[in-house]
Amino acid sequence: MNPIAMDIQRLQREIDELALITEAEPPVVTRVLFSEADLRGREFVKKLCREAGMVLRADAVGNIFARWDGTKENLAPVATGSHIDAIPNAGKYDGVVGVLGAIEAIRALKKSGYQPQRSIDLIIFTAEEPTRFGIGCIGSRLLSGVLSPEKAATFRDRDGKSLDEWRGVAHYAGSLDSVRLPKDCYAAFVELHIEQGPVLEREKTAIGIVEKIAAPSTLRMQLTGVGGHAGGTLMPGRRDALLAGAEIALAVERAVTGTGSPDTVGTTGVFRIEPGAVNSVPCRALLEIDVRDTKVATRDAALAQIEAAAKEICQRRLVTLQSERLNVDPPAVCDSALAETVADVCRQLGVSHKKMISRAYHDTLFMAQICPSTMIFIPCRGGISHRPDEFSSPEQIETGVRILTQTLAQAAG
Ligand SMILES: [Zn+2]
Repeated sequence: MNPIAMDIQRLQREIDELALITEAEPPVVTRVLFSEADLRGREFVKKLCREAGMVLRADAVGNIFARWDGTKENLAPVATGSHIDAIPNAGKYDGVVGVLGAIEAIRALKKSGYQPQRSIDLIIFTAEEPTRFGIGCIGSRLLSGVLSPEKAATFRDRDGKSLDEWRGVAHYAGSLDSVRLPKDCYAAFVELHIEQGPVLEREKTAIGIVEKIAAPSTLRMQLTGVGGHAGGTLMPGRRDALLAGAEIALAVERAVTGTGSPDTVGTTGVFRIEPGAVNSVPCRALLEIDVRDTKVATRDAALAQIEAAAKEICQRRLVTLQSERLNVDPPAVCDSALAETVADVCRQLGVSHKKMISRAYHDTLFMAQICPSTMIFIPCRGGISHRPDEFSSPEQIETGVRILTQTLAQAAG
């Protein structure tokens, strides 16, 4: 197989340029769904797609599809893609490598004279990150039918603003019913992404091929106690929402470390209190808890244990508990034939690779519900992600884009 020429310098420039489109002070990247920065980021990416000769469309929730038409219209297209939204205080590679890298893959294929039989779609998914609505992968959940339009219509951000209101701000119109794609609408879906873990770097392996994605879940708990003056409210009568929340956070740690599975992880990543004044007893607390595992049984056992503990803690502390499971997703099993295609490409190009599990979840988790899917991972320094010092070298990115390019060419015929 002759390697296809890449313009990795241009790609790196584009990654750097997109990183400057941020709500925060660079190098910090923050692009929350449908914020001004997210919308500008979308325009930046769309412009690159247009320049690459791709045809753009967007669905009602703002998933963007950039298509390179194949020669055989009757064949199901293949797809690649990722996201450009970024959590507060993030870096510039998460998601972006899979979007801008795919554009470079398509430019390189075009330049090489290759003509795909199947059309190739680049999908830029809406809200992979859960920042605005507390639930991630809203775009791919709707595409795959895992999330119903009715449920999505109930989403509110912390200011009470709905998904519909935000869609209006971003000028995405139409019924959410129209977002869902039929099963097997794509012959293959491949997402290029940084690993967000330390394995590839530690083992000096260039490429990870994802076989399975861990099963994620999110709990939201709203605790209502009784506030009062920090001086005037004596300790015996207190119904402090923060203290109940603190006990719950510790119960999360206890539950996930006690499942017997080393893959169970739990994080209380949101813990907000009201009124948040030094001289006032916290009357309300909001917790959002993320629990994941590669096995559903141990994940679900941990969830149940956390919920039982929260109930007991709140009863004992006379705090009202409202608990909700925001999402409880199954693990994704990737397509073994497609994963083998990626492995073949690695062998042909002499690139070291290994099959692995993704412990972070991605839009691929949901795409795998409707079409054969896998992911291509590249190493990132120290396994660090969701931080401004997130880093993959131009060489590591180039290798990933090269493998993606050849995989797309093989899948598209
Ligand atoms: Zn990501």
